[in-house]
Amino acid sequence: MVNHRLECIDAGSEYCPCYLAETDDCIICSHLQGKEFCDCNWNGVCVYQDFYWLNEKKKDIRKTIEAQIVDKKIIGSDILILKIKVTKTLARQLMQPGSYIFIRDPNQPFFFDVPMSIMRVDRQKTEIDVAIQLLGAKTKKLLDCGEKVLLKGPYWNGLLGLKHLKRLKEKNILVIARGIALAPALLVIEYLLSHKNKVTFMMDPGKMGKIFIEDYLHDLDIEVLRVNLRAEEGLAMVKNLLVYGAYSVVYSGGSDKVHSRIWNQIKDSGKDVQFVITNNGKLCCGEGVCGSCSLKLKDGSTIKMCKTQLEAETLIGGRYE
Ligand SMILES: Cc1cc2nc3c(=O)[nH]c(=O)nc-3n(C[C@H](O)[C@H](O)[C@H](O)COP(=O)(O)OP(=O)(O)OC[C@H]3O[C@@H](n4cnc5c(N)ncnc54)[C@H](O)[C@@H]3O)c2cc1C
Repeated sequence: MVNHRLECIDAGSEYCPCYLAETDDCIICSHLQGKEFCDCNWNGVCVYQDFYWLNEKKKDIRKTIEAQIVDKKIIGSDILILKIKVTKTLARQLMQPGSYIFIRDPNQPFFFDVPMSIMRVDRQKTEIDVAIQLLGAKTKKLLDCGEKVLLKGPYWNGLLGLKHLKRLKEKNILVIARGIALAPALLVIEYLLSHKNKVTFMMDPGKMGKIFIEDYLHDLDIEVLRVNLRAEEGLAMVKNLLVYGAYSVVYSGGSDKVHSRIWNQIKDSGKDVQFVITNNGKLCCGEGVCGSCSLKLKDGSTIKMCKTQLEAETLIGGRYE
């Protein structure tokens, strides 16, 4: 069944058409799903036409490259921050909110590839910063990286409901993030500020107990508040802001539980705001092929979280309720 709210993050990009077009599994094109009729909700360059002109072959895929680690910092017992030199093109491509890469220690095999959000891009120096919470095998092995790291990207589906962020100009936005998800929130905030929006940033240090992005906040013209999203008072703070503020969009960075708690405050506030959330899919290949991020929605359709752009509400309805 084609769900008309599905969009592919890669549609129209230099990575479209992809493997899924070759196997009749394209996320948006009905012809490339093996159907006779033309019935898509994509209004960019026709994916089928592109595929046809390429002699029914996909475009080139993202390559893994060896990149230079410019700086390495360890914060507390479990956060590693890497500053990595990238090409000018990659730096530009990774400025989009929700951008992420796969990285691994060059001495490890491909299955150590781990998705990491872009925290900050320095376009002049063509450097990116990523913050890594050391949890299990893939992340702990990144500690062994010397001067080099293997990097594959750009990928863009780190956020769901992205189109709501893209439309904003001169609006008030409530950005809420907890734990390691404070990292991707910075890229979102920089994007919002560059479009003349006003940002209130609620930060919850989470289990790490430390706001590891503090050094990155100095240059940002935003209102910053501390919150504990696991406490009733913290959630009441969120609701209060929603009731008395005039926010167009609420952004939630954190676990599915965090999204759910914030969603409940939005519903209780009675305000009509758009919801944008971090994508917590288990992403492994990033190309819609390996199946690790497959998710069954309530309508019975199965989607690939690495490529499918959904409304946050669709996911919350499909997964949490
Ligand atoms: C788009 C995206 C952006 C992310 N950005 C960051 C970031 O900026 N910083 C950061 O520290 N972490 C980030 N993560 C989470 C990070 O990828 C996982 O913590 C990491 O994969 C854990 O692997 P591990 O082997 O160290 O631990 P494991 O012990 O294997 O897992 C620890 C936790 O991570 C989850 N996890 C394991 N493998 C994956 C996977 N392939 N994709 C997603 N979750 C997984 C597990 O379910 C478990 O909850 C991001 C995840 C996604 C999907």
